[in-house]
Amino acid sequence: LACLAAEREETRTALYRPEEGAVRIEHAELHEAVAGNQLQVHLQPFVEVASRRIIGAESLARWTSARLGPVRPDQFITFAERTGLIGELTRWSINATLRLCAEVLRSPEAPLVSINLSPRVLIAPGFEQLITGALTFWNVPATSVLLEVTETALMEDPERCVAVMTRLRDRGLRIAIDDFGVGQASLSYLKRLPASKLKIDRTFIMDVVGDDRGARLVHSIIDLAHRLGLQVVAEGVEDEATLLRLAEMGCDLVQGYHTGRPAPAAEVLPLLVQAAPA
Ligand code: C2E
Ligand code: CA
Ligand code: CA
Ligand code: CA
Repeated sequence: LACLAAEREETRTALYRPEEGAVRIEHAELHEAVAGNQLQVHLQPFVEVASRRIIGAESLARWTSARLGPVRPDQFITFAERTGLIGELTRWSINATLRLCAEVLRSPEAPLVSINLSPRVLIAPGFEQLITGALTFWNVPATSVLLEVTETALMEDPERCVAVMTRLRDRGLRIAIDDFGVGQASLSYLKRLPASKLKIDRTFIMDVVGDDRGARLVHSIIDLAHRLGLQVVAEGVEDEATLLRLAEMGCDLVQGYHTGRPAPAAEVLPLLVQAAPA
């Protein structure tokens, strides 16, 4: 992962322009925040549609900068990806998440915790040692951890991606294809990837109620995923009507404000202990 830093070392500051206003993040302040463990882990529950039980949670990074105040994750993650800090940030995210969740993940209910991986991290040298070392250090079973990988990762080096994912899967880790539908990955990768879950992006889930063609599209993605042996997670479910439509379509899991907003780990962890086996 060090090579990610070396490769992009030259970019010390970068201007990222989100829709509303620009935030100038300094390389040094994000580096210090990560190194000093000043970021926080929030968790957002995954809910099994059939039972309405929480079976796990996604780890989402939060950063409140002393100078800028709260910085949106898409802003500081994008900055980290562009400046090479993403290697350090990923190491932080894995260790902070496993440290907080270790005890709960060893409980008999066997909940899952998912960790986001930026596209290039999965195929960076050292990633496999990082994740397996952290599992050993925190004494967390590999089967409790789901790695969320976006389609973009697959485009960069598909052969390497498939090889790394296969080795991780063989060690017991689970893999989810994140933000499905918004990237440009060819459908042919879907059949080759050793993934166990497919997460349909929120932009498609928003259409499930009120847009007939949008609903048909989501229904078709769910059927396709099931035929390939993948469980489906719908992202960004904000109301009961959407949840009920997704249930009719056979969607396995949902995640969204309706079933639980991202919240500090300490608030969500007790809910995971009541989780059912995945
Ligand atoms: P993502 O992986 O697609 O995560 C889901 C995003 O949707 C989260 O945004 C979450 O707060 C938001 N969300 C969940 N349910 C709802 C809903 O019902 N409605 C709406 N409108 N939004 C919902 P967040 O936390 O701002 O994170 C943004 C992105 O930043 C994530 O998108 C992920 O790609 C990235 N990210 C966050 N934490 C990490 C991390 O530790 N490492 C890496 N590599 N990326 C991270
Ligand atoms: Ca994700
Ligand atoms: Ca996602
Ligand atoms: Ca998304």
